[in-house]
Amino acid sequence: MRRFLTESEEKTITEAIGLAEDKTSGEIRVHIETRCKPDPLDRALEVFYALGMEKTRDKNGVLIYIATDDHKLAILGDEGINKVVPPNFWDAELELMKSHFKQGAFALGIAQAIHDVGEKLKAFFPFQTDDKDELSNDISVGH
Ligand code: CA
Ligand code: CA
Repeated sequence: MRRFLTESEEKTITEAIGLAEDKTSGEIRVHIETRCKPDPLDRALEVFYALGMEKTRDKNGVLIYIATDDHKLAILGDEGINKVVPPNFWDAELELMKSHFKQGAFALGIAQAIHDVGEKLKAFFPFQTDDKDELSNDISVGH
């Protein structure tokens, strides 16, 4: 698979996840793959379970899903989040990523979305002193 992000861009995104998770007990992951035939939200759900993201204590994992070639995006939160936030909670972040992606600013778009997702999560799931990093901050790359 050709590289969608440079190594330093990947590092920037991993760091953005770490910074976001310093403010919230929620866990953010990014999954990038090339193609996505089904609805991206359906595919994101598959990836969510494949990555074991349903295993967080407070059910507050969030997956940012990106299919690069098919230009599909989804943001999927676990049930702990969906219970407390309004529907379409992540629309602004999806729009933000789309507008950055249109200009070719992939890493920036993803990093900003991570930041914004973290800010929103913070209101519902503040950082706890006994916090654990329950899910890796590394980007998950599919094919
Ligand atoms: Ca955590
Ligand atoms: Ca994490």
